[in-house]
Amino acid sequence: MKKIVTVLGARPQFIKASVVSHAIAQTPGLTEVVVHTGQHFDANMSDVFFAELGMSKPDYFLNIHGGTHGAMTGRMLAEVEKVLLEEKPDVVLVYGDTNSTLAGALAAAKIHIPVAHVEAGLRSFNMAMPEEINRILTDNISKILFCPTETAVKNLHSEGFTKKPVSIAQVGDVMQDAAIHFANRSKMPEIGNVGQGFVLATVHRAENTDNPENILNIANAINKIHQEIAQVILPLHPRTRNLIQKAGIELNVKIIDPVGYLEMIGLLQECGLVLTDSGGLQKEAYFFGKPCVTMREQTEWSELVEMGVNVLVGTDTKIIINEVKENIDRQIADDMSVYGGGKASERIVEKIKSLSL
Ligand code: UDP
Repeated sequence: MKKIVTVLGARPQFIKASVVSHAIAQTPGLTEVVVHTGQHFDANMSDVFFAELGMSKPDYFLNIHGGTHGAMTGRMLAEVEKVLLEEKPDVVLVYGDTNSTLAGALAAAKIHIPVAHVEAGLRSFNMAMPEEINRILTDNISKILFCPTETAVKNLHSEGFTKKPVSIAQVGDVMQDAAIHFANRSKMPEIGNVGQGFVLATVHRAENTDNPENILNIANAINKIHQEIAQVILPLHPRTRNLIQKAGIELNVKIIDPVGYLEMIGLLQECGLVLTDSGGLQKEAYFFGKPCVTMREQTEWSELVEMGVNVLVGTDTKIIINEVKENIDRQIADDMSVYGGGKASERIVEKIKSLSL
């Protein structure tokens, strides 16, 4: 029996793990222990995903959140190490680019447990982003690099990973697996009759929320879009809500609490455009056939920009408004093979099973 310890802690990781953990559970010869760091802990940022997506309760809940990046990552490192020394897994599985990802990978690598990284090789080439630091460091201490795209594989090649004793596999994107798997269980949140063709907006990236000019520009753009183009529905991340309140910024759009994934899919199916700075939502817009306007300067999902289904607009108010006007309700081409066609979790589990670790 091969034992996997999965370390996770943030919203997108619950969604990604839901499909992989399901595939692990279906595979004879594999067993999984789940460690939730506590990075996201509110009911609507954490519990709802475990409840709705058929995941078992985590085996360990470390209750670590808040504080500076260093302090949070350090506390996670110490606590995850204790779990790993106790559980003695054959492999540690981490997802994406959060502090929980880096802490899980580093705790394992330091005590010589092989790390498997899902979403390896993604790069925004902006080292000011905490996510970029986390993903580069995690890749460099991983033994098994599960790349979602060809671009991700190329990034690893150009960084010299082919000369290292590691295994690189292009498996596709687990978020596409989730989108396919849960599509017919979608539901609309209870927000009254909003009709179709609204703008579904999310904002939570530090480079936007922590920069007073950027967040003000975004708020002005969103307010204007809501007034002049289409209704804006904004499930608001708790950190953005706090920062906006502190800065006294007014948002005159339809603000709702963060929603569960099934409700998010419901919104994606009905909207006319996604306006976001999220990594995951850029792809989900595509999976549900919706154009996306991304309020960032770079994206690690560059193929969507190359295909012309996602536009990068940064945080200039006028550009955001214009691109929303140009793109709303636009039909977009679909080539679902770019992200692996929904087979990523199967491929990940097969690979972990077949490797001699
Ligand atoms: N999401 C959700 N409810 C929300 C906002 C986002 O379920 O209110 C989902 C979204 O559909 C995607 C994931 O959370 O699957 C993206 O997470 P987030 O934007 O927090 O992180 P990122 O992808 O930028 O790392």
